Amino acid sequence: MICENIGVNGANLTFAGVDTTALAKKYGTPLFLMDEDRVRFNLRLYQKAMKEAFGEGSFPLYASKANCFKRIYEIMKEENMAIDLVSPGEIFTANKAGFPMERAFFHGNNKTDSDIAFAMESSVGFFVVDNTNELKAINETAKKKGIIQKVILRLSPGIDPHTYAAVATGKVDSKFGVAIETGQAALIVEETLGYENIELSGYHCHVGSQVFDEEGDVYINAATIMMSFAAEMKKKFGVEIKYLNMGGGFGVRYTENDPYMNIEANIKALAKHISSLAEELEIPMPCVLMEPGRSIVADAGMTLYSVGTIKEITGYKNYVSIDGGMTDNPRFALYGSKYTVLLANRMNEKSDFLCDIAGRCCESGDIIQPNVLIPKPVRNDIVAVCTTGAYNYSMASNYNRIPRPPVVMLSQGKDYIAVKRESFENLTALDV
Ligand SMILES: *Cc1c(COP(=O)(O)O)cnc(C)c1O
Repeated sequence: MICENIGVNGANLTFAGVDTTALAKKYGTPLFLMDEDRVRFNLRLYQKAMKEAFGEGSFPLYASKANCFKRIYEIMKEENMAIDLVSPGEIFTANKAGFPMERAFFHGNNKTDSDIAFAMESSVGFFVVDNTNELKAINETAKKKGIIQKVILRLSPGIDPHTYAAVATGKVDSKFGVAIETGQAALIVEETLGYENIELSGYHCHVGSQVFDEEGDVYINAATIMMSFAAEMKKKFGVEIKYLNMGGGFGVRYTENDPYMNIEANIKALAKHISSLAEELEIPMPCVLMEPGRSIVADAGMTLYSVGTIKEITGYKNYVSIDGGMTDNPRFALYGSKYTVLLANRMNEKSDFLCDIAGRCCESGDIIQPNVLIPKPVRNDIVAVCTTGAYNYSMASNYNRIPRPPVVMLSQGKDYIAVKRESFENLTALDV
């Protein structure tokens, strides 16, 4: 199986040790499952590896856009994690969960004036500044409030990991951050140092998502560029920074063909490289931050659906339609993402029926996964899509007025609801 938390008991698929067909019966479908123990396991792996490799003061931030609801923020609080937030909606949710906001980092390439004010009123610890427009606005708001706002500057190191174009974010022409190559990054450092109500805490880069070792030394190269930039800024302006934030992006396995990413080994290699750079460039070793999203929650998630229509177009192809679709998982429609699909109530049968798993939306592109092999299903069989813990619930929509599925958490063999199923009343609640 692609992850240790997936198993088989007789004919039935288990997830986090719980029978998925029983969960489908208890809660109905479509249904998001989240393995709470796996989330904790994954984030502890980062915490431990980073502390060992980079020392005290270095830590991971959970990039909460990957999957965001109150219970997730409570878990992050319990685990003493820091978090990334990218919108006032995420800030509001984290606040509601009682997350200590001094450990929150506020991202985004277009923070509005009201976003900035709201984040400061919420006492967000750090702003990750994307551009000079917002830097100025942050200084003005901080001045009005009589505070000094800590900021980290988001720079683009000019690196292109060969993941999907839509999730490569560190290129010079990216919409995110300030380019080092054009000289604009040096200008924003100078500008930051001139503002009275801003404290420069560090530099940030995020090269992309779903990055594997096979892409070459993406993080090593990014670190070289970032550290060299830090040394240059020290020379030019005498400024030393506390934090170097290397972003997120470690890849996860969606199918048996995907490689394993050894998180500990990567962190170790990165630490070795950064510390030798520090020595060589004669700057202090920074505290290193990383921002994993997908690799904390993806393999902690699974989606269950019920089979509806089975359509065999003779001589062409077969469709198996399920009771969800791009409204709960738009990732194939957006990026052509790969997924492992299983027939949860017939795991002991031969997978010899080739089909596309289609959603129920009025879009031909509403496909969860094409060319899947499963046992030939019948109506009301249960389809499981694996590794859906990242960028599924958080990307869900109400297209075609389809209510969003609930999120059921699994921990130590027990199940509980973290997010309720949306009702039709919820769907019309804002209609005047
Ligand atoms: C999306 C994002 C992340 C998380 O990326 P993953 O691929 O989910 O690990 C981290 N940092 C920033 C700035 C992001 O935009």
